[in-house]
Amino acid sequence: MRQVDHFIVGGAGGSATSSSGRTHKIWNPSTGEVQAEVALGDAALLERAVANAKKVQPEWAATNPQRRARIMFAFKELVEKHKQELAELLSSEHGKVVDDAHGDVQRGLEVIEFACGIPQALKGEYTQGAGPGIDVYSMRQPLGIGAGITPFNFPAMIPMWMFGMAIAAGNAFILKPSERDPSVPVRLAELFLEAGAPEGLLQVVHGDKEMVDAILDHPDIPAISFVGSSDIAQYIYARGSANAKRVQAFGGAKNHGIVMPDADLDQVVNDLAGAAFGSAGERCMALPVVVPVGEDTADRLREKLIPAIEGLRVGISTDKDAHYGPVVTPEHKARVEGWIDTAEKEGAEVVIDGRGFTLQGYEKGFFVGPTLLDRVTTDMESYKEEIFGPVLQIVRAKDFEEAVRLPSEHQYGNGVAIFTRNGHAAREFASRVNVGMVGINVPIPVPVSYHSFGGWKRSGFGDIDQYGMEGLRFWTKSKKVTQRWPDGGGDGSNAFVIPTMG
Ligand code: NAD
Repeated sequence: MRQVDHFIVGGAGGSATSSSGRTHKIWNPSTGEVQAEVALGDAALLERAVANAKKVQPEWAATNPQRRARIMFAFKELVEKHKQELAELLSSEHGKVVDDAHGDVQRGLEVIEFACGIPQALKGEYTQGAGPGIDVYSMRQPLGIGAGITPFNFPAMIPMWMFGMAIAAGNAFILKPSERDPSVPVRLAELFLEAGAPEGLLQVVHGDKEMVDAILDHPDIPAISFVGSSDIAQYIYARGSANAKRVQAFGGAKNHGIVMPDADLDQVVNDLAGAAFGSAGERCMALPVVVPVGEDTADRLREKLIPAIEGLRVGISTDKDAHYGPVVTPEHKARVEGWIDTAEKEGAEVVIDGRGFTLQGYEKGFFVGPTLLDRVTTDMESYKEEIFGPVLQIVRAKDFEEAVRLPSEHQYGNGVAIFTRNGHAAREFASRVNVGMVGINVPIPVPVSYHSFGGWKRSGFGDIDQYGMEGLRFWTKSKKVTQRWPDGGGDGSNAFVIPTMG
């Protein structure tokens, strides 16, 4: 069976095989078969990765930003060259269809493109003549070794969001990807080395809680970026912060799509089908809740949604005509179907039922059919929690005020969208809603790489976003220099009072 190993390179490399001896199985979600296994690492293995990173990082930080950018450019070209291979590998472990896997790689590459502009982005601030003979300037310096702990659902994009910014800023980086689909992160690290990066700059360690805890407690790792589910995000934030690290930890989501009575319903149905069911709903920016405003809007929307959802094609991840593939593991399939059971028991109307779905010829695959639930209410657990599957819930709002309140009061605050032709309503909504990322007639409002990404409430712990200038801020610390070059002797000021520029 194929073995996925750690990617530890540099003087302290040796055999990358884990000392823990534990492994985790990697499924092919389309066939339901185990296709590989990944070694799970421990603290001793992390120690080797840290030793390599410590060795290489000072020289990398001293490498001028233009040279650093060249590596990023070379890496970008290599990833583009290997895009099909990466997308197929990703799709075979995750289950998302190959076209969607291309998108996963592409959205990560866009942050690498931004990181290619590191010489411009790192230019500091300068004030000449802040006082007599006095200038003030500031610079951003790397932290040392950054670590990233990533989820299964974007095994290319999220690692690139993290290491692209961290490494361009002058840090070494240790990535701990999801143990469910770890092969693409390793391929990315190999390509990074091939692009000319020094050994030890980007390493991959695999593992579960044991490895994560070793990262959280390691004294030589000053910053950690995490993306995953909210309870674990909160744990990472608390334990990492208690160890005086800089931590950003992004969690789960339950994004709402508000549909105003004047919205173009055909467009909305098309957008919702993709945003709710694409990638089998396993996206933190999916739209699993639709909120039509007014009963009439709800009825009209439901009528159009039913045939659109019934027409979705579920297929294996290499099926070019499939709209979406299987979910990631058998446990996850059981969990999603369990939530549909719960919703039914809680009184939701199961309009389209995806439970028990099987695909001919792939009866062991982890498929869940598209599901539509209507008359979902805010007291239901199935509304309050993240389902992370191909399930769309209709929550009917009586008016605009209620439509603003629903996502604002939900425990998660990652993304939200409003569909309307009314500019005033859209503007009001965007400014008042208590959610981090807003789409106006855009169902999946993941900001472009030169803005930044981050949700609110239980979708994001810590106050600095990912990528863009925010990402750069996260992976660097600012140094402020005040210099005085007086013309000849002193300036006659009293050295015993705090200096002012007055
Ligand atoms: P997960 O929380 O199970 O795993 C995320 C990472 O944490 C993995 O690397 C995993 O190995 C590690 N981990 C798992 N259990 C742990 C434990 N007990 N202690 C320490 N570390 C542990 O998440 P997942 O199922 O891989 O990903 C799906 C979740 O991620 C969803 O909740 C989704 O909304 C969220 N997500 C959020 C964003 C965002 O930007 N907010 C983006 C993508 C995914």
